[in-house]
Amino acid sequence: MSSNLIKVALIGNPNVGKTSVFNELTGLNQQVGNYPGITVEKKQGVCKLSDSVKAKIIDLPGTYSLNASSIDENVVIELLLNKNDEDFPNVAVVVTEVENLKRNLLLFTQIKDLEIPTILVINMADRMQLKGIELNIPILEKELKTKIALVSSRKKIGIENLKNLILNYETLSTEPCLHASSIDPDYFNNLRRAFPNQLLYKLWLVITQDVNFLNLDRNEIKSSFTKSHADLKRLQQKETIKRYQFINDTLKIGQKIDVSKASDIRAKIDRILTHKIFGYVIFFGILMLIFQFLFDWSSIPMDFIDETFANFSSLAKQNLPAGEFTNLISEGIIPGIGGIVIFIPQIAFLFLFISVLEESGYMSRVVFLMDKIMRRFGLSGKSIVPLISGTACAIPAIMGARNIENWKERLITILVTPFTTCSARLPVYAILISLIIPEKRVLGFLSLQGLTLMTLYLLGFGMAIFSAFILNKYLKLNCKSYFVVEMPSYKIPMFKNVGINVLEKTRAFVTGAGKIILALSIILWYLGSHGLSDDFNNAEKNVVAELQSKNIKLNPSLIEDKVNAYKLENSYIGYMGKTIEPVIKPLGYDWKIGVAVVSSFAAREVFVGTLATIYSVGSHSDEETTIKNRMAAEVHPITGNKVFNFATGISLLLFYAFAMQCISTLAIVKKETNSWKWPIVQLVFMSGFAYLTALIAYQVLK
Ligand code: GDP
Repeated sequence: MSSNLIKVALIGNPNVGKTSVFNELTGLNQQVGNYPGITVEKKQGVCKLSDSVKAKIIDLPGTYSLNASSIDENVVIELLLNKNDEDFPNVAVVVTEVENLKRNLLLFTQIKDLEIPTILVINMADRMQLKGIELNIPILEKELKTKIALVSSRKKIGIENLKNLILNYETLSTEPCLHASSIDPDYFNNLRRAFPNQLLYKLWLVITQDVNFLNLDRNEIKSSFTKSHADLKRLQQKETIKRYQFINDTLKIGQKIDVSKASDIRAKIDRILTHKIFGYVIFFGILMLIFQFLFDWSSIPMDFIDETFANFSSLAKQNLPAGEFTNLISEGIIPGIGGIVIFIPQIAFLFLFISVLEESGYMSRVVFLMDKIMRRFGLSGKSIVPLISGTACAIPAIMGARNIENWKERLITILVTPFTTCSARLPVYAILISLIIPEKRVLGFLSLQGLTLMTLYLLGFGMAIFSAFILNKYLKLNCKSYFVVEMPSYKIPMFKNVGINVLEKTRAFVTGAGKIILALSIILWYLGSHGLSDDFNNAEKNVVAELQSKNIKLNPSLIEDKVNAYKLENSYIGYMGKTIEPVIKPLGYDWKIGVAVVSSFAAREVFVGTLATIYSVGSHSDEETTIKNRMAAEVHPITGNKVFNFATGISLLLFYAFAMQCISTLAIVKKETNSWKWPIVQLVFMSGFAYLTALIAYQVLK
C-alpha cells in the first residue's frame, strides 16, 4: 500500500442510498461543512479499512450525470477533473441500486471514461428477491471493467467487501468501458493531436460543460475546436445514446428480471397519495400531525429547558460573589446558552419528521403534488414544509429548506419563511388583542379575538407567498431548474439514517447559529443592564428618595421592581428607546414601547416581559392580569389619552407581524446562506415594510 490514507469519492444518482452507504462506512465519524463560496454541503468522513490504513470518504452531491446543470453537479465535475485538488480521489465509488441499474449506470460509464480507478456499488441487494432480479456479477464485472460490491446498506451486507475493494484499489482497471471519441472520430482525433497530454473525455467535458478547470485554458480549447451549439448538442445526444446502448447490451447478459414480480402495489399507493383530492387531504393531515408535535409536544422539553436554565441562573447568582462577573454569567451567558438550547427540541422533532418523510419515499410525492402550485410563486413543492413549520419557529423551518436542491427556490424559501407567524409572536399578539379587541362574538359563535388572531396568521402566510412572488421576479440568479422528481419506491425509514440526520442538523445549529445568538444575547444583556449616567448608578437612591418625597410606603419587593424599572429606563437600551421615540411616534408608540421594541429584538416574546419591567410589575403578583391592567391604564402624560388604544394596538400588531424581530433567525439565515448579505436584506426589507404598514395603520386609525 502506497499510502495510509486512501481518498475515496462517493458518487451516485440521488436516492440510490448513497447517504446510507456513507453512514455505514463512516458511522459518526463525519463532518459536514460547505464548499468554499457556495452553499453546497460538503460531507466527509473517515473509515478504518485495516489496522494501518484509513479511507477519507468524500460524499459528493447526488448527480444524474456529468452534465453540469446545477451547482451540485459542478462540484462533482470540478473535483473529478482537477488532479491538484487536495480531495482528488484515489478511487471513485459509484453507488447504484438494483432496481434502477440501467439509469444509474450512465453516470458510472462517464466516470470510467475519466480513467480514475472506479468501484461499482450495487445497493439495495435486499430487494432483489422481491423484485425478481438476478445479477451475474462476474459478467457485469468483466463488461464494465470494474469490481462490484453487491451491498445492502439496510441489512448491512457487503460493506466489508466494499472496504476490501477500496483497500485494494490499485488493482482496479482504469480502462474506460466505452470511448466517447467514437461518436465523432475525426473531431476527437484532431483534439487528441492538439492536446496530446490531456485526457480526451476531459477535453470533451471542457468543451461542452460550463465549469471551471484549473490548469486548462478553456477559451483556447473552445476557440480552436468550436462547433455550433446545435452540433455540440447533437454529439452529446449521440454520446448518451451510445452509452445506453452499451448499458443495455451489458445488462442483457448480466441481469435477469422476472417481470411478473416487477408490478407491485406501489402504483396503487401512488395513485392515492398523488390524487387530486385525497393527496392533499392526506398531506395536510400529516402536516397537522407534525405541527401538533412542534407546537404542543415540544413545549414539554422546552419548558423544562427554560426552567433548568432559570435555575442555573439563580444558582450562579446565589453561589458566586456578587458583582459584574456574576451578572454576566447569570444574566448574560446562561440565558444566552439557554436561548440556543431551547430550540433543540423543535429542530430535532422537525428533522425527525422530515427525514422520515424523505426516507419513506413520501416526500417525492408531496413535491409532485405541491410543485404546480408553489412554482407559480417561485417556490418549490418542498417549500411547503418550511412555510408550515415556520408557524412553530423559523429556525428549524429555515434549516428545513436544505432539502430544496435548486438554490434560487431555496433562497426564496429562506427569505420568506420568517413571515409565517411563529410561536414567539403569540404572547405579543395575545396581550395586544386582549387590550384592543372586545370579547365579542360575531354570528353568534365566532370570537372576534380569535378571528383577529386568525387574520394575523393569514396575513403572515399571505405576505410570505407575495414576497416569494416578487423575489422570484426580481432575483437574478442563474439556477437552471429541471423539474425531475424521482419517485423512489416506498421503504421503511432506516433508523440510523434518521438518527444521524437529526444529530447533524442539531449540531449544525448549535455550532453555527448558536455562536451568533450567544454573542448578540450578551450584547443585548449588556445594553439593558448598563448605563452611563448617574441616574443609572444611583437608581436605588433616587427611587427611594422619590417615594419618600411623595410619602409612599412600599414593601421591599415592590421597591425592587421600581428600581429595576428605573434602571432599565436609564440603561443604554432605555436611551435607545428614547432616541428612537421621534421615529416611532408616528406609529403611535412612546419611548417605553420603544424600549420594548429594541429589547424584543432578542426574541419577540421579550416584548411583554420588558413592558412588565418598565411598568414595574414583577413576579410578586398575578403577572398577566397586572401587565394587562397596567397597559390598559397607561395614559399619555400630556394628552391624557390611552397609550394602548385601538390605533396603536393595530399598529403594533402589524409591526410584529412583519418585522424581523429575531436575532436567532438572522443568525440561522447567515449560516444557511453563507453570507451576511441575505440576513441584512431580510432585516432591512422586513423592518421597513413593518414600519410602513404600522405607520399607515396608525395614521388612518388614530
Ligand atoms: P441518497 O439520496 O442516495 O443519499 O439515498 P439515501 O441513503 O437517503 O436512501 C434513499 C432511500 O433508500 C432511503 O429510504 C433509505 O432508507 C433506502 N435505502 C438505502 N439503502 C437501502 C438498502 O440497502 N435497502 C433498502 N431496501 N433500502 C435502502
